[in-house]
Amino acid sequence: MKILIQKFGGTSVSTHEKRLNVVQKIANAKKLGYYPVVVVSAMGRKGQPYSTDTLLSLITEDFKDKNLLAVDLLMSCGEVISCIVMSNELNNQNIASVPLTGGQAGIITDDNYSNASVISTECDNIIRILKEDKVPIVAGFQGISEKGFITTLGRGGSDVTAALLGAALKAEEIEIYTDVDGIMTADPRIVSNASLIKEISYNEVFQFADQGAKVIHPRAVEIAMRANIPLVIKNTMNNCNGTIINSAGDQNSDNVITGITHMSDRVQITVEHDLNKNNSYYYELFDILAKNLISIDLINVFPKEKIFTIDKKDFNKFNKIINNLKINYSKVDSCSKIAIIGSRMRGIPGVMAKILKTLTKEGIEVLQTADSHTTIWCLVEDKNTQKSINALHREFCLSK
Ligand code: ASP
Ligand code: MG
Repeated sequence: MKILIQKFGGTSVSTHEKRLNVVQKIANAKKLGYYPVVVVSAMGRKGQPYSTDTLLSLITEDFKDKNLLAVDLLMSCGEVISCIVMSNELNNQNIASVPLTGGQAGIITDDNYSNASVISTECDNIIRILKEDKVPIVAGFQGISEKGFITTLGRGGSDVTAALLGAALKAEEIEIYTDVDGIMTADPRIVSNASLIKEISYNEVFQFADQGAKVIHPRAVEIAMRANIPLVIKNTMNNCNGTIINSAGDQNSDNVITGITHMSDRVQITVEHDLNKNNSYYYELFDILAKNLISIDLINVFPKEKIFTIDKKDFNKFNKIINNLKINYSKVDSCSKIAIIGSRMRGIPGVMAKILKTLTKEGIEVLQTADSHTTIWCLVEDKNTQKSINALHREFCLSK
């Protein structure tokens, strides 16, 4: 039995016209000999009648705080409505289907409401439905606790449902249908001729933090990676091939770089040894920041100084703590951490040199760098973000 998971996001199921496209995608999969297992999100976005945010706006904040079980029960309704409406659409086109809650689909979780972890996925119901040649339509984002209460898996969790079912059913592929064509080489608002990435590895997707997470939930990528099942991001509204996410990435490409992304609103902090050597807190600095839940990034420790970045939103808290402890430091406000991603750069000399040469030629000062097997990061001032990304995108020929 060739099983295909097809997950449709909130905008894909928001109107009758769009749902007709969804029906088409399911019918095509059947025609190709697959047994589709469909997962749906709640219909539409904030403000639309049955979206998760709209449902949440029906109850007050203090009720939410004290009634976690009720909040999950309420949130689960969006996906439940969506899978029944979708089943109706399929029925209209003579495709037999069975709508299922997450619990009925066998997603068993702990009772950590709003962000439950999955304990097991028991697919007996789904398999029975498939054997009857019907399409199971599963309400995403939800499960059932061992005590029998409805739970949800965290916002954006329908992708997680799709990946869980894919892994449990040993699906051929997990298709994630959304309203964009896939993952792009750069944010198209920054690089006007950014192009679609055809194939990318699981590890590279994790590096696409912002853009990647908007397109697919990182936990879904993790689950698919562990089960070694390809994920495909596709647009419900067209027949574009989308972006395939698998373990190898694009082996045929001769380009060492896959894409560029960035994280803005970083503050670079430098703490010099000579100015702080008589202050015992200097030696405990990272411990102190950790205890205060300030996360740090791009950390370089030298005999003469410690350099790292923090998020701008943590700066006031950081400043207060550090001033209280009388630690001297200097900072560069408003920085941007640019990530140049590509697992094929591993072992290839000259990539960092090319990046630095490109930025220098543009008159951009690189404040700090770091690297891993898949990524080189450069810290630049925020005002240089757009220029840096465009120059690197051009230099590495990422527009096709
Ligand atoms: N409807 C849920 C949310 O808005 C789950 C999802 O869409 O994946 O977070
Ligand atoms: Mg989503």
